[in-house]
Amino acid sequence: MKTIHEKPITYKISDLEARLNERRDNYRERKIFDGATGAEIFFNGRRLINFSSNDYLGLANHPQVVEAFVAEARRSGIGAGAAHLITGHRAIHHQLEEELAAFTGRPRALLFSSGYLANLGIIAALCGRHDWIFSDRLNHASLIDGARYSGARLVRYSHNNVADLAVRIAQAPAGRELLIVTDGVFSMDGDIAPVPDLARVARSHGAWLMVDDAHGVGVMGRDGRGTPSHHGLSIADVPVLMGTLGKALGGAGAFVAGSAALIETLIQEARTYIYTTASPPALAAAIRVALQIAQSEPERRTHLFHLVDYFRARISALPFQLLPSPTPIQPLIIGSSARALEISRYLFQHDLQVAAIRPPTVPAGTARLRITLTSAHTISQIDRLIETLAAVSEIV
Ligand code: PMP
Repeated sequence: MKTIHEKPITYKISDLEARLNERRDNYRERKIFDGATGAEIFFNGRRLINFSSNDYLGLANHPQVVEAFVAEARRSGIGAGAAHLITGHRAIHHQLEEELAAFTGRPRALLFSSGYLANLGIIAALCGRHDWIFSDRLNHASLIDGARYSGARLVRYSHNNVADLAVRIAQAPAGRELLIVTDGVFSMDGDIAPVPDLARVARSHGAWLMVDDAHGVGVMGRDGRGTPSHHGLSIADVPVLMGTLGKALGGAGAFVAGSAALIETLIQEARTYIYTTASPPALAAAIRVALQIAQSEPERRTHLFHLVDYFRARISALPFQLLPSPTPIQPLIIGSSARALEISRYLFQHDLQVAAIRPPTVPAGTARLRITLTSAHTISQIDRLIETLAAVSEIV
């Protein structure tokens, strides 16, 4: 996989056309959408049912959330104007941090401007080149990039395979600092990490455990408190809990929650925290309301998981390879990139937005349709998807 640290030597800085040409058969293109994120999205005036958003609780366009955003923007403008350590840190950011700490059951939390930046900053602040990082093979790119950016030795264990992790961690030289990192809910597969077992391995080797709960926050656990809560785990088991605000909470940005010492260390040392503009205060105001709704309206999760069960029951009658995912991320493994794209295009022509996810985002030979369900969807929208997939399975 090409990352921030590896540019193939055959690529010349000046010869971008040649470089682009090499990519022709696996080119990424942006579609230009319009309108709010929700169960539907607009493209060229066409209304599509949207099965490609991470707005799991339907909060991105919730009237109270939008109103909080607008009211705070009227009060404090659209931008923070500076980094948190200069003049960017506002009372509303601070309140949100305290609420996220309480929500996740940890002493403190710290906001980052994005999940990608959070993972880079946290990992590189905690680890240096003498340390060892153990990372699930299917972890999100930002965790891998964070591990590389830190300069630590990166060891990848096979997906959710605690025995493999245990063998690999036992091989680390004595006296080294060890960090295990995992997605809580895997972004491209939808399965849940065996966090209690990872915590046990961490404990027995004196390692720290970090969970990236981008897809767990708001969705998993009691009141949507995330994957550690789903497993009944506390800060003692998962000392570093990272979550994002751009998925179930509908906005953008991220946070890390943990001990006071962890948060103070990150404020002092996480470069992606220190050297970037604080996120807009209006966003913090909106997220505070989203967080309230996520907790006070459990029926959103009830409906969402009902849709997950319904989708899985109906799709199982069709010739698609479904992964064992109990979460709103329901990928259908297609195999070849070309076929995944072809099916995605067919669905698109039939007013259904379903992204085809291809290597290198997922392992070679596992191109897939990444279907995400949200609490804003209806049963009849799922029926439309199933019926169109049934039709496409006979043609493509
Ligand atoms: N971690 C995971 C597991 C993710 O899925 C994502 C978003 N794709 C991120 C981190 C990055 O978060 P953000 O979009 O806020 O940068």
